[in-house]
Amino acid sequence: MPTKSIDRLLFAQGGRCFFCQRTLSPGEASVEHLVATANGGRNDPDNTVACCKALNALLGHMTLKEKLRVVLNQKGEFHCPNGGAGTVASKVTRPQTGAQRIALVVANLQKRGTARPLVRSRP
Ligand SMILES: [Zn+2]
Repeated sequence: MPTKSIDRLLFAQGGRCFFCQRTLSPGEASVEHLVATANGGRNDPDNTVACCKALNALLGHMTLKEKLRVVLNQKGEFHCPNGGAGTVASKVTRPQTGAQRIALVVANLQKRGTARPLVRSRP
């Protein structure tokens, strides 16, 4: 079982940001206190979530009510202000046209560079 609170929170959240669902490495994650410690929030699992550092900085010392307003204003299209990949919803959206699919495949191949797909010998 992870021992650091950030690791425990990330584990409990499936390795994803609490707000935008982006996959977070421990280095990208930070502990957000839903009720800020300055407002009497406790430093325990009921009051803490792991989220993108950029979002944590934005939420800063907002009250819980203000934070909820920020999240609700996104209307289910929440994006952390880090310019990274978006929500789960946008990830599961499939490209509509063949050209878009091909562009995705080409981009993926370019990302792989000289790496080759694993070729399994036939039985
Ligand atoms: Zn996030």
